[in-house]
Amino acid sequence: MQTTWQAILGWYDRHGRHDLPWRNTDDIYHIYLSEIMLQQTQVSRVREHFYPLFLEHFPTIGALAQATEEEVLSRWSGLGYYNRARNLHACARLAGDGLPTGYKELLGLPGIGDYTARAICAFGHNQPISVIDTNIARVLKRYFALPESTPKALLEHADKLLNTSRPRDHNLALMDIGSMVCLPKNPLCSLCPLSQSCMGIDAPETYTENKKSGYESRELYYGVMMSKGRIALVRTTGSMYKGMLTLPPLEQTDREPIASFRHSYTKYHLTVNLYEIDTLSGDDEVIWADGREMDDYPLSTLTKKALRLIYTPKGNHELQ
Ligand code: SF4
Repeated sequence: MQTTWQAILGWYDRHGRHDLPWRNTDDIYHIYLSEIMLQQTQVSRVREHFYPLFLEHFPTIGALAQATEEEVLSRWSGLGYYNRARNLHACARLAGDGLPTGYKELLGLPGIGDYTARAICAFGHNQPISVIDTNIARVLKRYFALPESTPKALLEHADKLLNTSRPRDHNLALMDIGSMVCLPKNPLCSLCPLSQSCMGIDAPETYTENKKSGYESRELYYGVMMSKGRIALVRTTGSMYKGMLTLPPLEQTDREPIASFRHSYTKYHLTVNLYEIDTLSGDDEVIWADGREMDDYPLSTLTKKALRLIYTPKGNHELQ
């Protein structure tokens, strides 16, 4: 295994993404934050926008613990999957001086599953533990020629390959090989440090992940009620967006919308229709917000798009 390890680390030293900010820190909170953000968001968006902005407001786990949930959700705005922010906040409040260092203890914290616990142990503490994300899984399937593989089988193979003397760099290297070389389509085997011993090199695309299911189209309906330049937003109580503010949702209607726009979210292609309304449900907590100051409120990307449309001079809606 020595030669394979050397090839992997030699490649990583020369070509790895060493400039990612969370790879240049030993602050466990920063590493943990990056892992949570990266779960559903592209590296470039996390790196250029969300990660630095969040750390500007909450530079330490203590600062995050002291913030209100509304402040945390506001700063998470645009990242989606808001339970991630709530769990991050809950962990910060439980962590005291810092997160635990052991895999099992980490698993006991809200929102920290097997992947995140492993990532914190390997990337934060250089512990000899395998990490398997989508990219690494693809590399392992091809390297070991595994057409069908359960998570358990993948982990056993990852452990076989694990370099226990430089586990942090080894895992990061496999991640980069998966995202830069062992691509889902047309992998660049001639550039791959694993090419000498890869068992799937003759037919790499045989060993790929399951195809994603297609997109689903949906229509959504929201009410727009204005007063003196402010707009009525309601507090969401459903689990995924709990605590976020949104335009008042409406039942499906045949009325002509004052504006419509398209929005894609995970596997959904949404058509969002906006309607003028003059009453609000008495059951909702209503916040009269200045829609031009969007950073002051916990809003999803969809709601921000709607507010931009409503508050744009060319929009269909007249401010009152
Ligand atoms: S040799 Fe090709 S198939 Fe094998 S791990 Fe490298 S890029 Fe993937």
